[in-house]
Amino acid sequence: MDTQTTEKRLKSRNIQPTAMRLLVLDFLIRNRSAVSLSDLEESFDRSDRTTLYRTLKTFLEHGLVHQIHDESGTAKYALCAEDCTCSYPDDLHLHFYCLSCENTFCFPEMGIPQFNLPENFTPSHGNFVISGQCPSCPASSLQ
Ligand SMILES: [Zn+2]
Ligand SMILES: [Zn+2]
Repeated sequence: MDTQTTEKRLKSRNIQPTAMRLLVLDFLIRNRSAVSLSDLEESFDRSDRTTLYRTLKTFLEHGLVHQIHDESGTAKYALCAEDCTCSYPDDLHLHFYCLSCENTFCFPEMGIPQFNLPENFTPSHGNFVISGQCPSCPASSLQ
């Protein structure tokens, strides 16, 4: 991914492109699975946790990424589709958490069903995660 493309992607979400933001976005684009703060820390060993956290938070606030809570207990972040507005329920989709490699995958093309909630239950967010085994992990590795 060239810098121009990543820069454009930041600007389309009204995020001022800084060197750090460009690097983090590039990392998110290159990763097939959702990324946690610890994943970022491991790959950016010269940056401190606070800076990385702030970068993710900015991305989240501007709708560049969405947050996923899976069974790992650690929040993960994945890039939103370019036309995503993170609105409920249209932009919600399925996630798959692999119990062996602990990777979480986004399935933006798999929207979630619409629920008729009882009166006065006002939904604003949703986390749809299925756990199991991903194609990269042999079935025997499941504990
Ligand atoms: Zn796996
Ligand atoms: Zn997702």
